[in-house]
Amino acid sequence: MSNPSILILPGDGIGPEVMDQVVRVIDWYGAKRDLAFDVSTDLVGGAAYDAHGVPLHDDTMAKAQEVDAVLLGAVGGPKYDDLDFSVKPERGLLRLRKEMDLYSNLRPAQCFDALADFSSLKKDIVAGLDIMIVRELTSGVYFGEPRGIIEEGNERVGINTQRYTESEIERAARSAFELAMRRNKKVCSMEKANVMESGILWREVVTKVGEDYPEVELSHMYADNGAMQLVRAPKQFDVIVTDNLFGDILSDCAAMLTGSLGMLPSASLGAPMANGRPKAMYEPVHGSAPDIAGQGKANPIACMLSFAMALRYSFDQGEEAARLESAIEKVLADGARTGDLMGPEGGTPLSTAEMGDAILAALDASL
Ligand code: NAD
Repeated sequence: MSNPSILILPGDGIGPEVMDQVVRVIDWYGAKRDLAFDVSTDLVGGAAYDAHGVPLHDDTMAKAQEVDAVLLGAVGGPKYDDLDFSVKPERGLLRLRKEMDLYSNLRPAQCFDALADFSSLKKDIVAGLDIMIVRELTSGVYFGEPRGIIEEGNERVGINTQRYTESEIERAARSAFELAMRRNKKVCSMEKANVMESGILWREVVTKVGEDYPEVELSHMYADNGAMQLVRAPKQFDVIVTDNLFGDILSDCAAMLTGSLGMLPSASLGAPMANGRPKAMYEPVHGSAPDIAGQGKANPIACMLSFAMALRYSFDQGEEAARLESAIEKVLADGARTGDLMGPEGGTPLSTAEMGDAILAALDASL
């Protein structure tokens, strides 16, 4: 049988720097765990624009549709700020999400004990936190019609429409329940069924999908209360499933519980392919960080944790994903820090490659 395939799109700014460290980890799995991947690399974002005049070449798009998983670094940078909207680096990313129909966005908020002081919340509220937000990514108010700004009488009116079909809700809900089955078997669905019809339908459909997962405990919460509970007692949650708009806000809120942007991975999943694996793209939450690009200062952990998600959700290698996460936890507990993780006590930060060295050493030590 051929090896599982990965398309790597390092992108711009710190994207290639952090991705270099992930490639070392991928190679480690091939050499030390008999888990080899067929890896190809291509351009996206500003890098693709420089080479081809478009932020994603059609050939790259076709490759992304064929592989088992796409790993993306980051796109964008000041050099491209004045480009026409249609060729801006972000359009490459949006095209991938749209054409691969990646409807389920997974944003974990996990707090490593060693970094609990970085949270804006008290240490005991966030230490050991491990929750997953599933955000519906391809529908809802960001896409619904009618939309626009119209004239009405002597003033203008801004219009957006929250619109969800049952099947759109169902597939997002199903991906949340499937995740919960691999975790602590709890799903909390968030909407505003008290004031929105789309929320009433959301609650009905999620409840119905829940009947297929009797082992999973399902609860419902109004999204405003959900925001409050996330900062009051986040550890009460396991998997949260919510729509595109609420998910956008709640996942950023949950992300900040854990401290640095350089630590946050994400996955965007679509429908299962013929081989049973979901269409999938994994990427750190952070951008291309032009302020530190090219200086070896970037934290590669968000990108590495994104690869850990790929191991778990695309390649069914949960134990190997946990091995990588534990190696990262260990180096942090031992005090390894890139610049973004330096506390007020100071010290000498590790470079991107030195952090990679430390994590590879911890992986070796795990054998
Ligand atoms: P950013 O995430 O790139 O950076 C925000 C701040 O966090 C910066 O100070 C940066 O140095 C720091 N930071 C981010 N990642 C880090 C890491 N791994 N290690 C250490 N420090 C890190 O967001 P921004 O500055 O608003 O945007 C910069 C560019 O990135 C823009 O062109 C923007 O459009 C693009 N962007 C791309 C994505 C993406 O590719 N998914 C996401 C957000 C922003």
